[in-house]
Amino acid sequence: MDAIAAAQVLSEIGYLLRQDPKEVYRARAFSAAAWAMALERPDLTALHMANKLTSIEGVGEGIAKVLAGLVETGESSYLERLRTETGQPARDDESTIDLGAYQGDLHSHTDWSDGRATMLEMARAAKALGYHYLGVTDHSPRIKVVNGLDAERLLAQSREREQVEKKVDGLALLQGIEVDILEDGSLDLPDAVLELLDVVVASPHVKLRQESASMTERMVRAVSNPNVDIIGHPTGRRPGSREGASYDVERVFREAAEHGVALEIDCDPARMDLSPEHARLALELGCLFSLDADAHAPAEFAYVPMAAWMARRAGIPMDRILNFRPLEALTMIAK
Ligand SMILES: [Zn+2]
Ligand SMILES: [Zn+2]
Repeated sequence: MDAIAAAQVLSEIGYLLRQDPKEVYRARAFSAAAWAMALERPDLTALHMANKLTSIEGVGEGIAKVLAGLVETGESSYLERLRTETGQPARDDESTIDLGAYQGDLHSHTDWSDGRATMLEMARAAKALGYHYLGVTDHSPRIKVVNGLDAERLLAQSREREQVEKKVDGLALLQGIEVDILEDGSLDLPDAVLELLDVVVASPHVKLRQESASMTERMVRAVSNPNVDIIGHPTGRRPGSREGASYDVERVFREAAEHGVALEIDCDPARMDLSPEHARLALELGCLFSLDADAHAPAEFAYVPMAAWMARRAGIPMDRILNFRPLEALTMIAK
């Protein structure tokens, strides 16, 4: 078993453990080990033969045992048990996700807002991973603590984008924004600004406890805005610590499908939003998806390979996921 496949098993274990508040630390340990493996890509067979699986960052005796099982049998009885215990369906409809065909990430942050790296560092990391494009989507002004971008700073950022693109050959940088969905479903930047951008990720960040009917209206209004390309982490949940917003998902997903707005599967282990269950429903309702790391630093791009199991478990075929499309075929670029 290769390191990425094993990372996905550890990531799914971490995800399922998060359903139990008592297991939150163990869940985090599994997610952290999954991340380390997705980043370092160790040779598991060789390490197992040398009895050195615990030399992988974040891998203690317990996780090493799971890895040893994976190397020997290709399966994890622990994962199977957790799936049963948490009521996960035995799936015969998992899709095939070929990460080698992943073209680029559409949701990332730089030090223009709360990212911890410069645009150039993020671009170089994306290029090193073989990406053809990267959506630079810093926060909108409403989120003051993260120094969100208004129209003026977006313009300044676009100048930097041009410079960075010249330095990183073969990578298209998409100028974008992660715009806040305000309480009434309007967006945190005027349409006249949004329509100039390559990619608009609209996300719910605050007031997630709104009651369901008004939250539904809020989300429907956001997906109906013609400038919105993707709904970022659509419920705002944080498994194990914060429940997501509650709204009529079926209605919102239907509207998203109708407007050609993609729903994000945010691979950040603290988010994992949409869940595979929600993503499966969205698939049935005809939605498109975006599989993003929501990276705030170069190393976080590895969230995508470790969490790609979410799209697979939801049964989403690759042609419904924007990131497997070449730049020219991206809906937001074409429209
Ligand atoms: Zn966000
Ligand atoms: Zn984000």
